[in-house]
Amino acid sequence: MNRTLIIDTAGLEGQTVLLKGWVAVRRDHGKLIFFDLRDRSGLLQLVVNPKVSAEAHAAAQEVRNEFVIEVEGKINPRMENQINESLPTGKVELEVTDLKILNKSEPIPMALDTDGYEIGEDVRMKYRYLDLRRDRLKKNILSRHRIIKHIRDYLDAEGFAEIETPILTKSTPEGARDYLVPSRLQPGTFYALPQSPQQYKQLLMVAGLEKYFQIARCFRDEDTRGDRQPEFTQLDIEMSFVEREDVIELNEKLLIDIVTKLYPEKKIQETPFPRLSYKEAMEKYGTDRLDLRMDKNDPNLLAFCWVIDFPFFEKTEDGGWTFTHNPFSAPKPEHMKDLMEKKNIGEILTTQYDVALNGFEIGGGSIRNHNPEALKAVFQIMGFEDERIQANFGHMLEALGFGAPPHGGIAWGLDRFVTIINNEPNIREVIAFPKTGDGRDLMMDSPSPAAPKQLKELHIKTETTKESKE
Ligand code: ASP
Repeated sequence: MNRTLIIDTAGLEGQTVLLKGWVAVRRDHGKLIFFDLRDRSGLLQLVVNPKVSAEAHAAAQEVRNEFVIEVEGKINPRMENQINESLPTGKVELEVTDLKILNKSEPIPMALDTDGYEIGEDVRMKYRYLDLRRDRLKKNILSRHRIIKHIRDYLDAEGFAEIETPILTKSTPEGARDYLVPSRLQPGTFYALPQSPQQYKQLLMVAGLEKYFQIARCFRDEDTRGDRQPEFTQLDIEMSFVEREDVIELNEKLLIDIVTKLYPEKKIQETPFPRLSYKEAMEKYGTDRLDLRMDKNDPNLLAFCWVIDFPFFEKTEDGGWTFTHNPFSAPKPEHMKDLMEKKNIGEILTTQYDVALNGFEIGGGSIRNHNPEALKAVFQIMGFEDERIQANFGHMLEALGFGAPPHGGIAWGLDRFVTIINNEPNIREVIAFPKTGDGRDLMMDSPSPAAPKQLKELHIKTETTKESKE
């Protein structure tokens, strides 16, 4: 007999089925034993009656919570007073005729039938594969899958190609510390993990691909907070022959499409999304992570908005200049002259646009500097010597010199977007295997010391004394 999924049993009254799954709850009522059986699709009540099958009843005596079992039996209507309206399968139950234990389970170290907010993070992270059995987390992970699938299909239909870019790469400044990977073959040198695919996606525009996207993993060595993780996922987009309006329009349509098709219960407060200049946002609200919701108690209200016209540069602590968002951005066209002449630096505005949702920045991008001289001027304003510019960004300047088309793009913080859509308090709730607040993976016990042999091969000496277990 083929396996039936639990969700489908609702319409199968009177039929004999084979089910496989986990025992969520076991209740012994004297002679009768009741189980809630869970599979990826739902939950169903099972009844094991010794009068129906003495063998199944004997086997059921052994079963405990989270055992994996296989059962055969007949789908019956539940008694009137046993109906559970909150379950799609709450009007039926399975009368078990055969029961086989496929695997046992140790006692589970935390409750799985709650939403889990009440459980300490240490135990949830150490046993994340159990934590993920919980309904809420399963729902979040599937919601994330559906959003990503929707994005892929939508952008494919718009003529975009999804292209992977390297993880072992060179530093791309996004304002955070790099993760470094030592090279074995080139002693004393390091790859950097990408803070974003920024340079590669621009190089794909030079290559003539014109419309790129990627569900891209990014790495930033920052102190972890609620909405930050050492590694996180961006929807990364780049397009050629576009202006700010084109990028904004595409992204606004895509965001609206995701919400209306996948989350019809949600209400977008205002379309087209309102736009504010950075100056306006700071003057009116004191932040550029705007929360424009009229009713902050409504869990289904989404207030998107764009923030534009950011200053290109800000003062560093030692009195120099650094970029506010992205050194590869173009200034607004009317400020190009000042950039090239390195005048009125504090007044130069960038083409950067950020999209905010309910008080969080969920994305940002810009039109790029496709003229190598203008990009060089940015680095010069930041006080980089020619030698340093050449060593760090020579490849970009060179590439822009080979017929780079005008181009621009954006990246969404996908984890944040999924978090907000699911009304979760932080991005760890929508990532299958996140790190703890202090950057550790408690389940895999990572980071962990390396074996002396590995370090030797990598030409590395460490100052700390943690012993490798190997
Ligand atoms: N690379 C930028 C970021 O990660 C996004 C972009 O400008 O496209 O924030």
